[in-house]
Amino acid sequence: MKVYHDRDADLGLLEGRRIAVVGYGNQGRAQALNLRDSGLDVVVGNRDDEYVARAREDGFRVLSIPEAAAEGDVVLLLIPDEVMPDLFPAKVAPHLEHGDALVFASGYTVAFDLLTLPPDVDVVLVAPRMIGAGVRDLYQAGRGFPSFIGVAQDASGQARALALALACGIGSTRMGAVAVTFAQEAELDLFTEQCFGPAFGQVLTSAVDLLLEEGYPPEAVLLELYMSGEFSYTLAKIAELGLVEQSALHSRTSQYGSMSRGMRFVLPELRSRMRQGLDEIRSGVFAREWAEEQAAGAPTLAALKEAALSLPLHELETRLRQELADTPGLGPQRPAAPVTVPEAGVRREAAERQGTLRRLWRRVRSRPAAAAPEMAALSAEQMEEVLGRFLARAADDAALQAYARGRRMTTHYRLRDVGLEFYLRFDEGQVSAGLGAPPAPAEIVLKTEAGVLDGMLTGRLNAMRAFLGGKLTFEGEGKLAITVQQIQDDLQRLYSQARERVK
Ligand code: NDP
Repeated sequence: MKVYHDRDADLGLLEGRRIAVVGYGNQGRAQALNLRDSGLDVVVGNRDDEYVARAREDGFRVLSIPEAAAEGDVVLLLIPDEVMPDLFPAKVAPHLEHGDALVFASGYTVAFDLLTLPPDVDVVLVAPRMIGAGVRDLYQAGRGFPSFIGVAQDASGQARALALALACGIGSTRMGAVAVTFAQEAELDLFTEQCFGPAFGQVLTSAVDLLLEEGYPPEAVLLELYMSGEFSYTLAKIAELGLVEQSALHSRTSQYGSMSRGMRFVLPELRSRMRQGLDEIRSGVFAREWAEEQAAGAPTLAALKEAALSLPLHELETRLRQELADTPGLGPQRPAAPVTVPEAGVRREAAERQGTLRRLWRRVRSRPAAAAPEMAALSAEQMEEVLGRFLARAADDAALQAYARGRRMTTHYRLRDVGLEFYLRFDEGQVSAGLGAPPAPAEIVLKTEAGVLDGMLTGRLNAMRAFLGGKLTFEGEGKLAITVQQIQDDLQRLYSQARERVK
């Protein structure tokens, strides 16, 4: 194991070389200020906008991006990764000279071959494991933060030493820098975003859903699991003390309970899903998919964000956050305020909000059986009849045809209990639908029961909750399945019309 510190770095390598920081955003501002405070010669390159004003206020000489690339001997490219493929060939590459160094804070564009690099320059990585604000604050506090350093091209023979000097200049080697390849940095970063983070998110939402279903008060569930900040504090202690050592901070009941039950959650399926994600990252499948998504204006990203915001959990969190922020001393981010007795009006308002939280939860918790006794369950024959009418309407519906524009996707629904199946095909503005299996294999297969589908398509049951509760399963692309949320209201409208005629 090798971790590089200040003693391994020679800041002198940067003396007499002008550093151009291209992009004055999160990382750009923090790194430019730290490098200057380390006694180095720094200019900033940015588009002419409010970031330029900020850089000037901070006392920097600000140039256009091509001018900065031409003036700099060491050029830090601190613009968003998705902007680099367009900007680099036009505004940076033509201005780099033999002997210059090009520096990235992320391995993504180099690892996935999105840039053509001039062969006679050093190409190095100095990637802080810290957000920009932390890079600056920790430097000013005389402390450090970890970073990954790497070399993609070593034209000068000194590229590694140069990366170390830069890591020292921004204050990272005070804590420690670790050597990786550009590909390793990019893959680890994407793995955390695409596998570790989402797996953890699903654990959290499953736990919330189960506890709410079992009738625990929503505010207690959210506080217990994460909103008190206790869990994030424990994570900080794990980083500081170690996974096993930090358990000493918890009661013996907690230690025994968590260790004796831990093995239950060793799920081979989890590991294979993570491997699937890692394979997509390493093979470049994800990078290609994301480039295509951006070229199309990122419609799937917009749909995914909308679906995430429609989760009942999001609404509950927002409410509880308001409650906590308005309760002196309880809000996790607020400094303790003197406790005063609220006036009657304020107390009433708080009580009303509390009531809203409970009403909201009752609505979220409502289940088909309890929610609509007046809507009798359909027999298999009735379900078939309703679906027949629903699908005929769906094929002619203008809203579904609009959704079908620019899409080629089939959804195949299988109702396990009644043995019925049907499909909806969206094909470049056309919608075809019918009972039975689709003519060609579907991209998404949804399996559920007739009562659950009926609940979802009459608006009595939230599709996300059905999914989290295991009442609905799907095979295929998760992101495609989530875009179907966009037409959920239209499917409900058409199905409810088809269901009205059931005697
Ligand atoms: P920001 O989004 O904060 O900064 C973006 C900068 O790029 C701004 O100066 C912005 O200026 C400029 N910019 C954006 N779009 C364009 C464009 N089309 N043309 C020209 N300039 C543009 O980025 P970050 O600081 O977050 O990220 C920079 C690099 O650092 C990335 O490689 C990232 O992966 C890496 N990184 C980021 C970390 C973080 O915590 N944020 C951590 C570690 C690495 P304006 O739009 O005003 O012109």
